Amino acid sequence: MTQEEIFKAIVAHSKEYGFIFPSSEIYDGLAAVYDYGQMGVELKNNIKRYWWEAMTRLNENIVGLDSCIFMHPKVWVASGHVAAFNDPLIDNKDSKKRYRADNLIEDYLDKIQEKIDKEVAKGRKRFGESFDEAQFKATNPNVLREQNKWNEIHNRYVAAEQANDLKEYRNIIMDCDIVDPISGTKNWTDVRQFNLMFSTQMSNTGEGEDKIYLRPETAQGIFVEYLNVQKTGRMKLPFGIAQIGKAFRNEVVARQFIFRMREFEQMEMEFFCRPGTEMEWFKYWKEKRLKWHVNLGMGEENYKFHDHEKLAHYANAATDIYFNFPFGFKELEGIHSRTDYDLGNHQKLSGKKIQYFDPETGESYVPYCVETSIGVDRMFLAVLSHSYHEEKLENGETRVVLSIPAPLAPVKVAVLPLLNKDGLPEKAQEVVDEIKYDFNYQFDAKDSIGKRYRRQDAIGTPFCVTIDHDTLNDNQVTVRDRDTMEQVRVPIAELREMIDKKVNMRNLLRKL
Ligand code: ATP
Repeated sequence: MTQEEIFKAIVAHSKEYGFIFPSSEIYDGLAAVYDYGQMGVELKNNIKRYWWEAMTRLNENIVGLDSCIFMHPKVWVASGHVAAFNDPLIDNKDSKKRYRADNLIEDYLDKIQEKIDKEVAKGRKRFGESFDEAQFKATNPNVLREQNKWNEIHNRYVAAEQANDLKEYRNIIMDCDIVDPISGTKNWTDVRQFNLMFSTQMSNTGEGEDKIYLRPETAQGIFVEYLNVQKTGRMKLPFGIAQIGKAFRNEVVARQFIFRMREFEQMEMEFFCRPGTEMEWFKYWKEKRLKWHVNLGMGEENYKFHDHEKLAHYANAATDIYFNFPFGFKELEGIHSRTDYDLGNHQKLSGKKIQYFDPETGESYVPYCVETSIGVDRMFLAVLSHSYHEEKLENGETRVVLSIPAPLAPVKVAVLPLLNKDGLPEKAQEVVDEIKYDFNYQFDAKDSIGKRYRRQDAIGTPFCVTIDHDTLNDNQVTVRDRDTMEQVRVPIAELREMIDKKVNMRNLLRKL
């Protein structure tokens, strides 16, 4: 299967098994808005728990917050979002489709990079053991030609980005002969800026209506509550505030399932520190966050850092953690050193002093801040796409299995009476009563045992527990492991401990 086919299969699978549904589907859906079904909500909650506990329980100096989606409109002036939260968009006049001009250029650069990688792979195959990649890249004419092309366009692109030169974006698109994938033409409009914030009205205290925004990031809630948390929590620098919540962006192009949504959820942590120490903390959080990801066991090679070439208006250092999605390496999480930009601007615009008195230095100052920001939905997609496998079995059948890291799996254990009679369902109920306070479980007595195993594999249940006639005499059950499909006999009294060892979040957190 090609990567594209795998991605399509994942989208179809997640609908078929109750992970993700397109929003308002009976009305033909709403673009880039998705609902999480009965399985999806469990997986999503487990991802959030893994993050929340890693942040707030494992760090004594990080506390939580739950601030509102609606905020005073001035918040978004101070944060710079009203003036600068824009994407450069371009339309194709023939297909009438809209694109992000920067993404068109980035995709073009990726294609050149792919050509280079292919040439290198060919070289490696041809020369075998004696292959010297650096020398090959420096001398192979095909690689050199493509690399020069890449460098030239990349330099123009970075310069255009830095100067916010919309005309140059279009020039690059025209010069590179970038065509619309749908119409195949170069009939492009000019590039325009498009603000990504959704707005609505809130009736004021009798003075008419005010335009307010749906927050495009949760971080500003943390900044405006900084003083309250610091004072009431008697927090000393350095300390962090963590928050999980919805964010909204009117994305120009939203065609990648839950990778880019118009309503999504973020897990953000703002870490406040003494000015001058921010680079140390930036480095610290880069390592910490990568470890959190790698700890899930989804392969270290599937992550990489991608440093920003152009820094956002508020940052003095920024990197992304990229994940190997089915459509290539893309941003999963951002880590930004935001300086005192946000607190400083809120101080200016609100007229309220937002300062920290440092008992060690005897000075008062606006703290600096390092942010870690990850989309819950992107993390969900990373887990789902990495876990999805179609396996050929020895008997010639295929099974679709989601090898979701066990502590994140929506259902931990399935309880399956072999037959729906002879007292087996009643015995199975006893097993349920033994485990239901600790684990999310499913009870399933319908269809053949093989079919029931397949259903559990498809939702990623780590354990299936079968109750048969012997169970009535020996109080033992058969436990089947999702990944190895091995089966072992286990006394009911030991079941809870056995399951717990594999699925408890504690085990993941301990390794951090
Ligand atoms: P991109 O470049 O992909 O648009 P971004 O750099 O604008 O992302 P940030 O503003 O750094 O993203 O947001 C932090 C995190 O929030 C991202 O790393 C991503 O996981 C998540 N995120 C941002 N926009 C979306 C979206 N439209 N849908 C889902 N998740 C998102």
